[in-house]
Amino acid sequence: CGIVAYVGHREACPIIIKGLKRLEYRGYDSAGIALMNGSLNVYKKKGKVSELEAFIADKNVHGTIGMGHTRWATHGEPNDVNAHPHYSTSGKIAIIHNGIIENYAALKTLLLEKGHTFQSDTDSEVFINLIEDIRTTTGCSLVEAVRLALHEVVGAYAIVVLSKDDPNHIVAARKGSPLVVGVGEGEYFFASDATPIIEYTNDVIYLNDYEIAVVKDGQLDIRTKEDVQQTPYIQRLELAL
Ligand code: GLU
Repeated sequence: CGIVAYVGHREACPIIIKGLKRLEYRGYDSAGIALMNGSLNVYKKKGKVSELEAFIADKNVHGTIGMGHTRWATHGEPNDVNAHPHYSTSGKIAIIHNGIIENYAALKTLLLEKGHTFQSDTDSEVFINLIEDIRTTTGCSLVEAVRLALHEVVGAYAIVVLSKDDPNHIVAARKGSPLVVGVGEGEYFFASDATPIIEYTNDVIYLNDYEIAVVKDGQLDIRTKEDVQQTPYIQRLELAL
């Protein structure tokens, strides 16, 4: 239901938690966060963002790349396991997802046959395993695997993906569900709407359907699912909190 992600020079966790609180008005049943700092650590809980915050208080949540999610369950009951982020089978990549993947059951059957395993009842965990499957079968890059996966899924999504093997990458995409990129100085924000971003920058890009945004080594690249590079249209918001 709500997405916040960060890559830059600051600690990601406080920015993400604060951002998730700004998105609380959208409604949710669980919340979670993933941080990258050598490893890719996921913490998630049924309940309020404040409960997630208490849960991670004594954990290693350092890192300058991370993503957080508030979930409004559509596939699988609200509980800790079904909360986002979700790891792939290898545990090397993780996803947060807003929306619904309508053909998840058929994709899940195929992925199970290929040896993927699932912890949750969500459609979102199917999406991340599809990305992993494409990557391992073709040997392509993370961004390319996400791009190819967009050709397989039917439904609505805003996603952010992090990968342990690609420590300076953050990959996001959308179709149907909103996703905004905030452009700061040497830092980027991703969120479902601009409210978690405007405290840090007024420069935002509203992603279009079927666009993939990747920040790699500090550079933002936006392309379509046909792999056509886009010139980002940066809007200056004159909003105040
Ligand atoms: N369909 C996903 C799930 O049930 C995402 C729901 C959402 O948008 O929060 O976990």
